[in-house]
Amino acid sequence: MTTVESPPTAQPIWRPPAGALWSGRWVDGASAMPVRDPEDGSLLGHVTDTSPVEVDQAVAGVAAAGTSGEEWPAWRRREALDAAARLVLRRREVLTEVMSREGCKTVREATAEVSRAAETLRLSAQQTGRLTGETLPFSDTSRGAGRLGWYTREPVGVVAAITPFNDPLNLVAHKVGPALAAGNGVVLKPAEATPLTALAFAEILLDAGVPAERLAVVPGTGAGTGRALVGHPLVDLVSFTGGFRTGNEVARAAGAKKTLMELGGNNAVLVLDDAAREAAAHAVVAGAFGVAGQNCLSVQRVFVSSRIADRFIRDVVTATEALRVGRKADSRTDIGPLISEREAGRVQEWVREAREGGAEVRTGGQREGAFHWPTVLTGVPADAKVMTEEIFGPVLVIEPFETVDEAITRANGTRYGLQAGIFTAALETALDVAERLRVGAVMINDSSDFRIDAMPFGGPKRSGVGREGVRYAVEAMTEPKVVAVRRSA
Ligand code: NAD
Repeated sequence: MTTVESPPTAQPIWRPPAGALWSGRWVDGASAMPVRDPEDGSLLGHVTDTSPVEVDQAVAGVAAAGTSGEEWPAWRRREALDAAARLVLRRREVLTEVMSREGCKTVREATAEVSRAAETLRLSAQQTGRLTGETLPFSDTSRGAGRLGWYTREPVGVVAAITPFNDPLNLVAHKVGPALAAGNGVVLKPAEATPLTALAFAEILLDAGVPAERLAVVPGTGAGTGRALVGHPLVDLVSFTGGFRTGNEVARAAGAKKTLMELGGNNAVLVLDDAAREAAAHAVVAGAFGVAGQNCLSVQRVFVSSRIADRFIRDVVTATEALRVGRKADSRTDIGPLISEREAGRVQEWVREAREGGAEVRTGGQREGAFHWPTVLTGVPADAKVMTEEIFGPVLVIEPFETVDEAITRANGTRYGLQAGIFTAALETALDVAERLRVGAVMINDSSDFRIDAMPFGGPKRSGVGREGVRYAVEAMTEPKVVAVRRSA
């Protein structure tokens, strides 16, 4: 397919009760901002562009609700989160529609994300029974004699959750679920492009029994709403997912607050000469081009043994050319649009830069509006942006290597470290490579693009600070509190 067919325009099937949710009340703030379908620019509705003064009201409301475990005990939190998981599945159609209209996911991708979000809530519910501490060894020091004590895990207080556009439901669930499970209040600032999904999710949480005063959703811009939220003195922890540059700004605005950051990736996959070549090619193509490459786990760089490089590149190109670029609503579509025409233009520009540096475009390269065709590049100069930065678009670089040592060095030669993959039949080699790759997770005989929602998720270097994955987020969103009893004076 060379051009994208024109869309049938229809009104969305769900509208939020109002443009924002401030601690229990659906409200329309003073300013509104439009939400558009990135595919064709059609208007889907309006949400509040939350001002700093309104952010202050929302945060103050959630802070005033407090974190009392008597008012909302763990067993009730578990029940509410379990009920929310079931409701998410029951409202799959609405969530899929909202997500795939305002965001960049195809209906197939959005449907799959609904299941993931329900799973994340279910995992969050399980954690309420695991908020345990332990007794402390006071008698192990002479100064502790006569004392008995323990620590418990207490909620941090108000969690500010800031989320990106690319997984607009599940990444919201990954912050709000653990924050509520741990007993906190949450103020959520969703991505500018995808606020409706977040509001639909908030409606589900309220319907499932989450106390309204524990949750606020403040749509708006990063520079306005996001910055005001992060810098708010009543926010106790900032949980941010987004790009590295924004992460730096968030860290500056947050000051000396607890922060969790899930940032970008520039993920590498190694394909050794004994790999199941065709299976590796298919996994790489799926991992590189899902959600049009707008995925922090996307495969961006492949290092393939020079002994099989020509055949592997041919396999990848064939599988890539079989992908169908098209409208999100069409269930046959494999690759939908980027989140904006501007982003598609940026991706095209990075491809042009690589080409001018001598890269060869094996397939793809063309763009139409917000659509960028899946693109495979070889011979890319080491300093081209598609090699050094996170592309966050449907572009894959393939480079041959002579030795495994060289491949590891090149895979590690990035400032990011989220995930990696290696394909080989030799388990010992795979384990050795896994140990030497400086990333948060290594997938053996799979691409970098694999995650279950229960695993510790995140990476070293520019890929973030701390780990998500429900249990790990709950731990980060609580803090130990010691109680010691002096038995004799
Ligand atoms: P982004 O950094 O542009 O925006 C993320 C969020 O931050 C948005 O809600 C935005 O409004 C807000 N924001 C922007 N400026 C802000 C500021 N000064 N203060 C507070 N908030 C601000 O990211 P994006 O384009 O929405 O998403 C893509 C990025 O997210 C990629 O880099 C991707 O790798 C990363 N990401 C990481 C993970 C992960 O788990 N590691 C998952 C998904 C996406």
